Amino acid sequence: MTERLTTDVTIIGGGVAGCAAAVALRRVGLKVVLLEKGACGAGASGVNFGGVRQQGRSLVELPLARRSRAIWDKLNEMLGEDVEFEATGHIKLARSEADMAELERYARDAAEHGLELQLLGANAARADLPWLGEKVVGASLCAEDGAANPRLVGPAFARLARRLGADVREHALVNAAAREGERFETRTDALAVDSRFLVNAAGIGAGKVASWFGEEVPLGPVVPNMLVTEPLPIFVTRSVGVCGGDVYVRQVSRGNVIMGGGRGWGDAELLHSGPTTDQSLTGMRKTLDLVPALRGAHIIRTWAGIDGQMPDRIPVIGFSATTPDLVHAFGFSGHGFQLGPVVGEIIAELIADGRSPSPIEPFAITRFAEASVLPAAAAGVEH
Ligand SMILES: Cc1cc2nc3c(=O)[nH]c(=O)nc-3n(C[C@H](O)[C@H](O)[C@H](O)COP(=O)(O)OP(=O)(O)OC[C@H]3O[C@@H](n4cnc5c(N)ncnc54)[C@H](O)[C@@H]3O)c2cc1C
Repeated sequence: MTERLTTDVTIIGGGVAGCAAAVALRRVGLKVVLLEKGACGAGASGVNFGGVRQQGRSLVELPLARRSRAIWDKLNEMLGEDVEFEATGHIKLARSEADMAELERYARDAAEHGLELQLLGANAARADLPWLGEKVVGASLCAEDGAANPRLVGPAFARLARRLGADVREHALVNAAAREGERFETRTDALAVDSRFLVNAAGIGAGKVASWFGEEVPLGPVVPNMLVTEPLPIFVTRSVGVCGGDVYVRQVSRGNVIMGGGRGWGDAELLHSGPTTDQSLTGMRKTLDLVPALRGAHIIRTWAGIDGQMPDRIPVIGFSATTPDLVHAFGFSGHGFQLGPVVGEIIAELIADGRSPSPIEPFAITRFAEASVLPAAAAGVEH
């Protein structure tokens, strides 16, 4: 028998974006039903590298990343749990003079958005991280950036949403949603939810949800390939990336070194993904050039995950162009973990006030209908 629920807002997707939205919406007093096809935080939000990084983002994302970073500082207190966020600093390495010129240009542009980056020559970079390999010619350091444990963040938001009164349903696959008059009806096999607003935070599944409302979006999968070593004595004291984004490394407090680079395989329909041996070996080789001390370390696990990617590598955040009261937040293109907390707040602002004080115009879904030339991605996928 179908259970019927009536609410103010239905959220499809229990990743960090959907769960943070559930919390923010409860905070402004709205009734929320969140429908997640698996377990909350088990999609991209739970398997990512954990980078809480502003450095290297597209400049149009920086205002959101800055606002989100301020939330990360108080996240443990807000969630009532420790999500292992640490501002270790994020260092981005240059492997050529051209890379260094790119870092210098980016540092100038980022300063205009209030993000201070420290440029380091080869010696200064080695003074900071004495184990750096020969290939490094310089670096840019963002002292405020860092990392958190992705396995903890989504579920912690979901638990807080529940404590605040949200009706969070797991193992609830939404197979249809439609607007009827001034309301939405959202259906799973067992549920029919009637709501005034609908939020599409379905990650890689968001393209299908948008299509139910006649909104075709060029959302494709991005499947980062990841590895982790056995626990080692602590030496990688910062989160490390490179120009080009093809290697990223950090060490957790238990000693395991997490590294990523290249692409795994993924089935966007089944939400199933895995690493590839080729990419794992290439990733290890590139990492060894930067961190020779990892030679001989045992890899204990490899994995991959699927995020939704837009052609211009920035997300869709904002109202639907076809359907009143439908809000989209998807297509984070491999870097939405850091943004998750602020995305939740922006969704709640759009629903409660009709607008957000954050500059979200660049993320309008209409950009794909209007633009014959897409805005250039200022930064590729990197973590
Ligand atoms: C391997 C990897 C490494 C990454 N590293 C970083 C990083 O270091 N830093 C960073 O900032 N970002 C990183 N990212 C990106 C980041 O993880 C994502 O951008 C972010 O988690 C997206 O959150 P989300 O809530 O939009 O999506 P998701 O976490 O994917 O959540 C969407 C949810 O919707 C559910 N869903 C889909 N369809 C339906 C349906 N029909 N009915 C019900 N539920 C549905 C899914 O089950 C899923 O749980 C990485 C991503 C990956 C995969």
